Amino acid sequence: EKRVYFFGSKKAEGKASMKQLLGGKGANLAEMTNLGVPVPAGFTIATNVCQEYYSNNAKWPAGLEAEVSKNIKKLETAMGKKFGDPKNPLLVSVRSGAAVSMPGMMDTVLNLGLNDDVVAGLIEMTNNPRFVYDIYRRFIDMYGDVVMGCKHEKFEEALEAAKKKAKVENDNQLSAEQLAELVESYKKIYKKNIGKMFPQKPLDQLKGAIDAVFGSWNSERAIKYRQIHKIENLLGTAVNVQAMVFGNMGEDCGTGVCFTRNPSTGEKELYGEFLINAQGEDVVAGIRTPLEMKKLSKIMPKAYKELVALMKKLEKHYKDMQDIEFTIEQKKLYILQTRNGKRTAAAAVKCAVDMVAEKLIPNKVAVTRVMPEQLDMLLHPSFDSKAKRDVIAKGLPASPGAAVGQVVFDAETADAWAAEGKKVILVRIETSPEDISGMHASEGILTQRGGMTSHAAVVARGMGKCCVAGVGEISVNYKTRKFTVGKKTVKEGDWLSLDGTRGEVAMGQIPLVEPKMSGDFAKFMAICDKVRKLKVRTNADTPDDAAAAREFGAEGIGLCRTEHMFFEGERIWHVRSLILAADDYAAMKKELAEADKKDAAAIKKKYADTKKNYEGALKKLLTYQRKDFEGIFKAMKGLPVTVRLLDPPLHEFLPNDAASQKEMASRLKIKLKDVKNMVEKLHEFNPMLGHRGCRLAVTYPEIYRMQARAIIEAALKLSTPKNKVIPEIMIPLVGEVSELAQVKAEVVDEIKQVLKKSRKKLTYKIGTMIEIPRAALTADEIANEADFFSFGTNDLTQMTLGFSRDDIGRFIGQYLVEGIYKEDPFQVLDQNGVGKLVKTGIELGRSAKKRLKIGICGEHGGEPKTVAFCHELGMNYVSCSPYRVPIARLAAAQSAV
Ligand code: ADP
Ligand code: MG
Ligand code: MG
Repeated sequence: EKRVYFFGSKKAEGKASMKQLLGGKGANLAEMTNLGVPVPAGFTIATNVCQEYYSNNAKWPAGLEAEVSKNIKKLETAMGKKFGDPKNPLLVSVRSGAAVSMPGMMDTVLNLGLNDDVVAGLIEMTNNPRFVYDIYRRFIDMYGDVVMGCKHEKFEEALEAAKKKAKVENDNQLSAEQLAELVESYKKIYKKNIGKMFPQKPLDQLKGAIDAVFGSWNSERAIKYRQIHKIENLLGTAVNVQAMVFGNMGEDCGTGVCFTRNPSTGEKELYGEFLINAQGEDVVAGIRTPLEMKKLSKIMPKAYKELVALMKKLEKHYKDMQDIEFTIEQKKLYILQTRNGKRTAAAAVKCAVDMVAEKLIPNKVAVTRVMPEQLDMLLHPSFDSKAKRDVIAKGLPASPGAAVGQVVFDAETADAWAAEGKKVILVRIETSPEDISGMHASEGILTQRGGMTSHAAVVARGMGKCCVAGVGEISVNYKTRKFTVGKKTVKEGDWLSLDGTRGEVAMGQIPLVEPKMSGDFAKFMAICDKVRKLKVRTNADTPDDAAAAREFGAEGIGLCRTEHMFFEGERIWHVRSLILAADDYAAMKKELAEADKKDAAAIKKKYADTKKNYEGALKKLLTYQRKDFEGIFKAMKGLPVTVRLLDPPLHEFLPNDAASQKEMASRLKIKLKDVKNMVEKLHEFNPMLGHRGCRLAVTYPEIYRMQARAIIEAALKLSTPKNKVIPEIMIPLVGEVSELAQVKAEVVDEIKQVLKKSRKKLTYKIGTMIEIPRAALTADEIANEADFFSFGTNDLTQMTLGFSRDDIGRFIGQYLVEGIYKEDPFQVLDQNGVGKLVKTGIELGRSAKKRLKIGICGEHGGEPKTVAFCHELGMNYVSCSPYRVPIARLAAAQSAV
């Protein structure tokens, strides 16, 4: 089996579509080679070798060594140089690269192949001792750090000391002699920390570096990164061994990073940074402040022109925004990496919309370019533009957004404080891959050093975190846990506001405002709407929610809960009167039904007060509810509205604490004892499984009759020939078809009375929620009585898993950590369990009624994976909270491609 793939001399054994096997970096190096892009030659050890390596006790599988040697030979021939030959040495980089890009998470070693002899030979060859010592000291540092685990800071200290001694600010100002001295100190540091001399045999170095790349796949930070980004099912990392080109040979050399579009805004413009006389990660690590791309046109016009042309070519070829790493060696341009650029949510939307307009991609591809979670970020608040700002410093707008939080100076504190529920801003001189978890826990990130492509900026953009980078005016002191700016001092715990869009740092807490849908966002949503098949409705109980949801593109209300209509203002008192009279009223009805005519009068007399109170309360509530429904129907302008009749158990409407019970007694002019008795009487051991939903209507049918009347009267009032209101009345918590039949008969009878009196016609529907497992299992029977189904997956999940939604907090954390359940079943629908009931319910329901309209209205309705599942099952719509409507529209579009 082939393990190693060569690229060079304009031909490669791999190609872009082989990402799984070659990793993103390797596959694209191969693709670019085939495209004729100037890429230094090299070879890629495939990702499955990493897996073999791990299952072979971290040893090379048999045959790998021979294959690597063969490819080294090939590389030597391609480059006309020899590995380890002092007269004409081949130097290589050893680079990691998995199928999914994990920037900076795994290890790279540059300048490999150097030793004392090669160094001497190279000096003779290049006549550039400064350069040669520079790469040697970098190599010892990287090899020591990455391969042998001697911390980079140890070498960094020696470098700082050397700069201090030479009285220079930057590394590129050190002379050849000073660098040669530094090499000697680095070797000593290496020996002291590792206990061995620095290895002189290039082949040993190569083996060590390849092992280190394999090892970095399971480093703590790489594992953490995969966890945070939910990256699963990868084979491992590939290893790319590639001939070195040098950006640090002198002033006609450089290295940089560029994007074909602005990754922050999505604007189609040249974007990037570079450093003259520098190597590798210097730009990303923020060693010196990099220059803006445009300046390259002055300094090296030819290389610049070539780079711009290559950027165009690569974007056109990959049909996506590219993030490109390049190096210029003595004016000659080389491309070292290209990948689809990570971008902010706003940039993702703009790029998708623009690329459709440019005819670079079709709608179907455009909808895959924005992740649903990213849209979520665009729906987050931003700073109120009218609010006062106490701006203390300005830096680079590295990742847009607004963040308010308390200052912390290290990742661990960020983690700890966030776990306590605090909002934090992580302030660092610069960030490194070890800070990932703390960055994730923070609202925003502020760095003193680093550019737009620094680690902090790239990672923050990927996470959708606000970041202000390179704020040179501040001076961070980790020891005292303070930073100063001018005469101001900011301590750990102080409140700070970051504006990542403007690059501003302000004291205190700037107020936030809600987002708006407009411009590119609206255009993007329109693209999604063209692609998707599933309808998207919203869960809304008030005209305001309904209006907001319409703004977000809701195509109807999938769940209008009516319980809140029982609470507001005066209403609760009528509800309480109703509850107090309810059982006597039921008793009266029973007695009347069983009594002779002549006794009826006596019974009526006995219950006169009960009747007055009960019916009086219903009448009052009818007036309120009618108004509520009018408001909602008006806001939805003829779009379908599903109203769920009363669902919670009655005790929820009674007061629990002594003071409120007293108030109730005095308001309703009854004895406190009677209030307490009533509370006692309604107490249930497990209200979730108690007297609620349609069970209430079996006992007290007048409540649903009143609600049905309110709905129909409101619909009659607001329906116009142009905007017909078609109310959908939904009966909750049905488990058996006769239960539904009985309650429905009452509701229909009431509706008929209303329609008869009004002498108008109105189309209405009566359906049910499927939220009890038995309902799903007998859905064919239930369908005979229902015009539609709506899966209430909150209750369905509770009852299927036997997890109480309100008590799950005690154990779900541990369940998730131990992987018993992969995800919180109340957030992501448990497809394997609850999903089977949903599937069964749909199949049975439609076997009885072919065109049965079916939707989902639990919290799951806006969760992307669940939306995809609902699409697969052939539902007609999903319904979710107003803010998740755009996310559901996108998720629905993605499931349709
Ligand atoms: P990462 O995956 O962290 O981006 P890379 O493998 O891309 O790591 O390496 C980091 C940097 O090292 C590159 O951006 C490039 O500047 C430099 N580099 C890697 N290989 C070479 C090479 N063959 N010649 C010159 N520079 C290189
Ligand atoms: Mg890279
Ligand atoms: Mg329910």
